[in-house]
Amino acid sequence: MTSSPRLAIRGGRPVRRRPIPYSAHGTSEIGDREIRAVVKVLKRRKIFRFLNDPKISESAQLEAAYRKYTGCRHALALGGGGTTALVAALVGLGVGAGDEVIIPGYTYIATAAACLVVNAVPVICEIDNSLTMDPADMERKITRYTRAIIPVHMRGTPCRMREIMRIARRHKLLVLEDVAQANGGSYFGRKLGSIGDAGAFSFQHYKVITSGEGGLVITNHKKIYQRTTIAHDSAMVFWARDGWKVRPFAGENYRMCELRAALGLVQFSRINDILARCRAIKRRIVAGIADLPQIELQDVPDPKGDCGISLAFYLPDAKRARQFSEALNKEGVPNGTMFNQGIPDRHIYCHWEYVMNKWSRDRLGLPWSRAVYKGHAKYSRNMCPQTLHWLGRAIALHLHQHLTNRDADDIIRAIRKVAQAL
Ligand SMILES: *Cc1c(COP(=O)(O)O)cnc(C)c1O
Repeated sequence: MTSSPRLAIRGGRPVRRRPIPYSAHGTSEIGDREIRAVVKVLKRRKIFRFLNDPKISESAQLEAAYRKYTGCRHALALGGGGTTALVAALVGLGVGAGDEVIIPGYTYIATAAACLVVNAVPVICEIDNSLTMDPADMERKITRYTRAIIPVHMRGTPCRMREIMRIARRHKLLVLEDVAQANGGSYFGRKLGSIGDAGAFSFQHYKVITSGEGGLVITNHKKIYQRTTIAHDSAMVFWARDGWKVRPFAGENYRMCELRAALGLVQFSRINDILARCRAIKRRIVAGIADLPQIELQDVPDPKGDCGISLAFYLPDAKRARQFSEALNKEGVPNGTMFNQGIPDRHIYCHWEYVMNKWSRDRLGLPWSRAVYKGHAKYSRNMCPQTLHWLGRAIALHLHQHLTNRDADDIIRAIRKVAQAL
């Protein structure tokens, strides 16, 4: 250790002086093709999808592209976003008042919000060293009121779907995959979102590809698809094709518009290239640091299916994680610890204040109101200590397709330097 070069944090020369570039994945690719596609819709002056024949409708084409890509029989594009995709899919699954839905303690607050919007009670379970849902704790959280489970493929990492599906089937529970952060990822050859009963995608600015705002639901079940479609348009019965067996009910308006779909469709044509490059960069970095005994890499349930959009590793405790993170930043490699009492990160359950405090949107106090809910879901900041433990020890780096091999090599050198010197 005495021969290690001096850390930048102690006045030494940083590994990297030029900033490591930052970039959002799909958004950074927006170019002439996207612009032309959107302008084409404007010139056509038919922005409402149901005015266009499905052969030319961009919304319909986006759905067809996702059916082919994921192998699912049905796809529905949504204008709202990943949140509305989750809401519509929950309605599609028949989940609502009186039901519990198990979600991980590490996900964007939107996953919890979607449950609340359909008046279902979110029940929070632990994550494990994959930074995704811990199947064993998920099973412990099942009660007689549980209807559905939402595994979330966080930061492009596939969840432990084999275990999750096995438990879900045993208890006859529905599975809705939240694929908002893992568009294009897979799990042992199957596209994420196609493994459970339904999958919900987001095309928001920060996701793998974007339509500005937007989302999409996939499913293999006709009834779930038809219910999801009814939920996404208050007048769906009027546009729907004949022969629908599902009795209509009130929907909202989450329709996709052709402008967004046109943008999303061009972005979709780029997804494989974006992911291939992210994966190559991540493989290179992982190979360069895997032998370090000072750090423990995130356990990725299927590294081949991982999107490669982030890298995470653990230090032995939160204090050392903070020291490591600061030292690595000073070496010129942007990174962050994942749980820090000072920063109210909305991806961690203890910072979801309207869930923690059961703040309802209505007078009755739904969805927790005794009038409809007979269960006993409780929330507290310390309810998932294992989740806070893994997040507290974790350091994460954002990866993207514009990082060069030289950038990756500098990242490797900086991580090695800090690991060996601290
Ligand atoms: C972004 C995100 C959502 C919500 O997507 P929006 O398009 O912003 O509504 C849902 N779940 C997760 C895990 C997300 O990261």
